[in-house]
Amino acid sequence: MKRRWVEQLLALGLVAGAPVAGGAEDRMVPFWPQAVTDAIHGEIDGGAALRTVRDLGRFHRVHGSPGFTAAAEMMRERLIAAGLADAAIERFPADGTTRYAHFRSYLGWNPTEASLEEVSPHARPIARFPDLAVALADYSQDADVTAELVDVGRGAAPADYAGKAVRGRLVLASGPLPLVHRRAVEERGAAGFLSDYPNQRTAWSGDDRDLVRWGHLSPYQTGNTFAFMLSARQSQDLRNRLAAGEKIVLHARVSARMVPATYDVVTATIAGQERPGEEVVLTAHLCHESAGANDNASGSAAVFEIARALRSAVARGTLAAPRRTLRFLWLPEIAGSQAWLVRHPEAARATVAGIHMDMVGGLLATTHGTFHLSRSAESHPHVVDEIARAWLAAVVRASERYAERGGDAYAGLAWPSGSRESFLTDLRGVEMGSDHQVFEEASFGVPMVYFHDWPDVTIHTNKDLPENLDATKLGRVAFLGAGIAWTLAALPDAEAPRLLAVTRAGLAERAACAGLRAELSGYARDAALIRREAAVVTSATLRSLGALWPSAAGAAGTEEARLRDPSPMAPLADSDGRVPVRNPDVRGPLGVYYYDHLAEMLGPDAEVETALARRDGGEVLTWEALNLVDGRRSVQEIRDVLTGRYEPVPVAEVAEYLDLLARARVVSWR
Ligand SMILES: [Zn+2]
Repeated sequence: MKRRWVEQLLALGLVAGAPVAGGAEDRMVPFWPQAVTDAIHGEIDGGAALRTVRDLGRFHRVHGSPGFTAAAEMMRERLIAAGLADAAIERFPADGTTRYAHFRSYLGWNPTEASLEEVSPHARPIARFPDLAVALADYSQDADVTAELVDVGRGAAPADYAGKAVRGRLVLASGPLPLVHRRAVEERGAAGFLSDYPNQRTAWSGDDRDLVRWGHLSPYQTGNTFAFMLSARQSQDLRNRLAAGEKIVLHARVSARMVPATYDVVTATIAGQERPGEEVVLTAHLCHESAGANDNASGSAAVFEIARALRSAVARGTLAAPRRTLRFLWLPEIAGSQAWLVRHPEAARATVAGIHMDMVGGLLATTHGTFHLSRSAESHPHVVDEIARAWLAAVVRASERYAERGGDAYAGLAWPSGSRESFLTDLRGVEMGSDHQVFEEASFGVPMVYFHDWPDVTIHTNKDLPENLDATKLGRVAFLGAGIAWTLAALPDAEAPRLLAVTRAGLAERAACAGLRAELSGYARDAALIRREAAVVTSATLRSLGALWPSAAGAAGTEEARLRDPSPMAPLADSDGRVPVRNPDVRGPLGVYYYDHLAEMLGPDAEVETALARRDGGEVLTWEALNLVDGRRSVQEIRDVLTGRYEPVPVAEVAEYLDLLARARVVSWR
């Protein structure tokens, strides 16, 4: 597969046609001899990745459940069969009391079976678990109840219950499940409830009235009764009948217990030969509800395919053993990452960078999902972003050529059982919502690129199934991930000048975009900040390149010195000079899956909404505001970095958020 890489990068607007040392034009990726790229391609099998998705999809993979344990065991066995001899499962207590820094673990769950039937007036089955795995809300517990059904609307506020007798009855509610449980069951004595709490909002929301969404009760509430999940059609039918005055009696039977369990983390490595103590990490969360095909059997399968393929190439000698160690992790989402990182403080320090995959195999026509490659956090710029960009350009170009001209399907990175379309994707800034927000958090500081499909109209529903996935896309994603990881782990120092050239080109484009943003800014000081922070990002990225490839350190250093901002910003008259200092006991993000540290510290009904959080992208801005707390930057300086690297934000909004964190003792004032 020979491609002119300069042409590929030009097509993505990456280089200005700068001449590069001879021979490079035969390369698909500029900094790798074609034999290396071919060796990786030759091992990756998109069809095999899809088969792994199907196998994982059979397990109901709730955190701390027998289904998760079984899926983890299957992964470990397959890794060992693939020659990754050190594959193991690490188990971290999930019992409601063990803490991983500030994060208090929650209980596991042991569901066996459940059924919901209408007794009268029309005897008929409504839902059965495990036939329909999402029918039973997670953390439901034993019950055998025959009772009348009452419609309470959302069921989230006391007013929803005005004039309604719910004690001993079943309620039908559309509000958030833990809150409905509190209002209906704990406060008013209902026996349990039925829920059609809606799914993530997209342009397609509500179109498919037969989707059944997975729901969960609080994993901390040991007094949980139960909830059954219904489709919009089922619940509307029941509502209409109740509104017409029908008396509906249901029989609910649940066999399930919340139990002390473990967060099981599957780990395996390919050992580095030159710098075995330095690691490159590839992660995917192994949960969720069966089938959970795109979310996230797909990422799990793609990471497995990378591990298998690279190990096989090394064993066969088509690739030399890597310089740095490659580590592969399959985790219970976010909670497992937090437990693993807190219990392995040495691991974050040893990890140079990583790749996280969460939802990577959806067929566009079915899931309406586009593949996105998110750069590392702006607080932590790294050369992994530019390596990822170059590999992405190569995959896009190969897929486009094939889709547009036909010919060699293999060269087009198409797999026989998969699609033939172009790889539809973009490169974008960091977004929240998966394990990378733990790894990248300042306490751990592992720069990561994040692979993710969004939207996906089947997410967290009974229709997230293997048949919506594409072997070609899984193969391309695995090839892309393998290429990025192999570059970080194995690129010889001799190739570093080419990587430096590619990195400079990518950074020039980013700086040009920042320059445009500065020009369009109406405020001279903000414009200067945007330019200053673009230079800081460029410097940091070049520095990270020099740290990994010493031969490039000199050139990167020269560039960096040239870019270093000579004039610090003049302070403002109304600036906020207070310096927040981080509480060392709070490591990792404040929200750890079901755990909310602000609610834990300030109470469940405390006002924790802030103007910064309400912004579009507020989740990233608040996460980054805490990442930027280093005991030296003032509130004003944190505001200035956010403004320069993300968007202009008023200092008062940053102050309001940090004041909230101070009340929750996440930070103190120096
Ligand atoms: Zn996910």
